[in-house]
Amino acid sequence: MPAHRQPAGSQVTYVSRRVLFLGPQGSGKGTQAARLSTLLGVPHISSGDMLRRAVVEGTDLGRRAAGIMAAGDLVPDDLVVAMVAERLGQGDAACGFLLDGFPRTLPQAQALDEALHGDAVDTVVLLWAPEHELLERLMKRALEQGRTDDTAEAITRRLALYREETAPLVDYYPAQGVAVAEVDGLGTIDAVFVRIVNALAGAW
Ligand code: ADP
Repeated sequence: MPAHRQPAGSQVTYVSRRVLFLGPQGSGKGTQAARLSTLLGVPHISSGDMLRRAVVEGTDLGRRAAGIMAAGDLVPDDLVVAMVAERLGQGDAACGFLLDGFPRTLPQAQALDEALHGDAVDTVVLLWAPEHELLERLMKRALEQGRTDDTAEAITRRLALYREETAPLVDYYPAQGVAVAEVDGLGTIDAVFVRIVNALAGAW
């Protein structure tokens, strides 16, 4: 259910929109999250994009993360948690956000709960697709975009890490009373987007 917040003396009701996107690499998460953030008017916070930017800018974080990312491994929780917590503290995230790629492990999910001071996220969207489709999409993206972590080894590693580290979050959130809306990621970008919006309308 939505968290309605009404500051004392205000006539305005704020509807919190705190959405998490879960789903394996290649499920279309990034594309759909960007669209949904525009629709909801909340910032799209992608841990992968933030880390790639840090690598390009050559920051301390970027230098530490570059090799780990290229191998398809996970950047240590403490580094990612600090990066995202700092981003969530910025003003534009006060009325909501759409998190994409974070949390990716149970400790990250617990750290997020702490950072939000028990003010949990509203909804989790789980975007899924069969593994053979994910592999096909990721190999195609590798040819088209030449991302340094889109080698066959790194892709296999990322999908394995998703199963081991991230998939358990699908059970973590319902246990916290947060609904997980499962959405079929097969089909056109428009068709999947309609499914996501419908799933959210049902959850709110
Ligand atoms: P993909 O979903 O295609 O793997 P992302 O852009 O989400 O791409 O992430 C790229 C890489 O950035 C990951 O393989 C990992 O090394 C790192 N990364 C992103 N988010 C996290 C996170 N929450 N925790 C640890 N590492 C992360």
